[in-house]
Amino acid sequence: MKFHAISLVFFLFGINSMMGQITDPKATEVWEPEPKIVKPGTSTAPPSDAIVLFDGKNFDQWEHVNGSAVKWTLESDGTMTVKPGTEAIQTKMGFGDAQLHLEFRAPVVVKGEGQGRGNSGVFLQSRYELQVLDSYNNRTYSNGQVASMYKQHLPLVNAARPPGEWQTYDIIYTAPRFNDDGMLTAPARVTVMHNGVLVQNNVEIKGGTEYIGLPKYKAHGKAPLQLQDHGDLVSFRNIWIRPL
Ligand code: MG
Repeated sequence: MKFHAISLVFFLFGINSMMGQITDPKATEVWEPEPKIVKPGTSTAPPSDAIVLFDGKNFDQWEHVNGSAVKWTLESDGTMTVKPGTEAIQTKMGFGDAQLHLEFRAPVVVKGEGQGRGNSGVFLQSRYELQVLDSYNNRTYSNGQVASMYKQHLPLVNAARPPGEWQTYDIIYTAPRFNDDGMLTAPARVTVMHNGVLVQNNVEIKGGTEYIGLPKYKAHGKAPLQLQDHGDLVSFRNIWIRPL
């Protein structure tokens, strides 16, 4: 009897399936894999499975873009500050798809205007710049203000805090894919929260960031995260990454 009852259930389920309707709620439940348990961080502390790239103590995870020692300033308060003229720094490790958190601060002493105020940048895979700028009461071209994917995507809103205050970026990045011939098969994509506000919603990166001219892709693999020296005293702290 029991066998027949079960058969009947499957028979009816099959009919409903053929008609494009699923009647069993369990049919759409997914149990495996079970998502790994991760203890979330507080607003400033990294989650348990993150690679901490900068916790304020040292530059162990960083180097000058030419591979020599970092020349930026390690401050006594657990932050680092651009030393103008010393060029960008980068992680020693290379990354692909990742979740990235970092905090930045424009100088409290406001100097310059437009692109010349609190300018730095987060270069994903050394190529794709998420702009860092003091965009608090500082108009510039929209696709070059803070939280823009520089000259590619303007931010959905301006969520800038005043200079001297710490700001956060939370970034979800999908690296571009290339085939064996170096042809692009899928562009990079990025989602960005600026101070907890959505500013880039899964936008398609159009190629390497260009100051002049149009972006284009050139095949690459995993690559370091870079922070830009644009001549301004921008500070950073609490940088961590979760490769995906
Ligand atoms: Mg910049």
